[in-house]
Amino acid sequence: MDFTISARILISTDSFPVIGLSVLQPAPGGSLVYGQIQLTQQYFGSPLVIEGILYNLKPSTSHGLHVHETGDLSQACLSLGGHFNPHGKLHGSEKSSERHLGDLGNVLTDEFGIANIYLVIQDGSLFGAQGWIGRSIAVSEFQDDLGENIDEGSQRSGNSGGSLACGVIGIKYPVGSLPNENKMYDYIRQ
Ligand SMILES: [Zn+2]
Repeated sequence: MDFTISARILISTDSFPVIGLSVLQPAPGGSLVYGQIQLTQQYFGSPLVIEGILYNLKPSTSHGLHVHETGDLSQACLSLGGHFNPHGKLHGSEKSSERHLGDLGNVLTDEFGIANIYLVIQDGSLFGAQGWIGRSIAVSEFQDDLGENIDEGSQRSGNSGGSLACGVIGIKYPVGSLPNENKMYDYIRQ
């Protein structure tokens, strides 16, 4: 029997994976929270794997984690803008369809106040028109209610309070150009 298997895939000559790194520094005003978060994207359209660790949070608590619109730390964590929301949606959980693209849910701390982070986000991208590199990540003071309450604060930011620490998402890899999504093309492989 003669048959052909074909696969249609997006390819790029650019360098992958793309890795972003955010070093989170304490917000002024008494916070001692710090840590770092790494984001890895294997190819255009692939999920983002988000891994990291945060220190000096309160033991056994939940704290909202968000990507913010800008990487403007001129007023530390106060000048980051809102949650990154290019689709004009309401605030939500990292798993819901109605969510800001920057909504990453909550991180949980252990009895020492350390949060180990491992998250897979299906619809984020480090590069391209809605790329996260150059923006920022912040961990908030309180638990994010994930937009499940009816008040305006819930639907805007999950009532998670101010930021305890924040950092810009910088480029860790590649050291050359970031991939250009406009240069990708369909490739028919048989
Ligand atoms: Zn949000």
